[in-house]
Amino acid sequence: MWADLNEQRKAIAAAMDYAVPEADRDEAEDLLEVYREDRIALTLLLEFYSYLPEAREDWVHELRVVNRQQGIFLLAAITAQHQYMYLVSSEGIEFQGRVDDGFLAQELLDFFEYDSAEAFAEVCAAVDALPVYEPMQLDEEICPACHAAAGEYHELGCPVEICPWCGGQLIHCDCRYEQLGLDGLTNEAELLRFEAVLEERGRIPYSPEQRPSFAGNDPNDVFDE
Ligand SMILES: [Zn+2]
Ligand SMILES: [Zn+2]
Repeated sequence: MWADLNEQRKAIAAAMDYAVPEADRDEAEDLLEVYREDRIALTLLLEFYSYLPEAREDWVHELRVVNRQQGIFLLAAITAQHQYMYLVSSEGIEFQGRVDDGFLAQELLDFFEYDSAEAFAEVCAAVDALPVYEPMQLDEEICPACHAAAGEYHELGCPVEICPWCGGQLIHCDCRYEQLGLDGLTNEAELLRFEAVLEERGRIPYSPEQRPSFAGNDPNDVFDE
């Protein structure tokens, strides 16, 4: 994962060569430094600098949070000239147009629980009131692995999720096999059955005490037993 971030940062810096006016380069790189360990922000910056929305020189000086649900972020990239919206998660990224258009597809309005298109347009009209997007590793209220907020359930398979039966790491303990009476989970149907049993028992939502300490350079080490 850290090697990935490194490569992502290199790719962004390379794309910046074409995208950022020379006079603004230092400031553009400052933002890259702020988010150097934040996969969501790096994904956005790489997308922006690789496919400049208006196909001309521009650069991002700020990221703000329009909304977020379960690790899926609707972020505003504030550039020298405009404000653009991106839907970003650990799964990928989708450009959503300009913030001042104030438009979002109905399924996304529903997903982010806006009452109406007008309610969303109002939020877009006040970009300056939106919170600045905090770099992930610094924000204790967000699971560092799956980006669930405090009180939300982890993405199933998140290494930080705690097992409600034994109190260990859900992806490492044997409870899933014991609960299903199987030797392993080998297909989608078994996984769905496990999810149902897990929900019946009651999943443990993310809270900041669950954060692993990133003592080493590789977070995967922390998650190993
Ligand atoms: Zn998580
Ligand atoms: Zn367990």
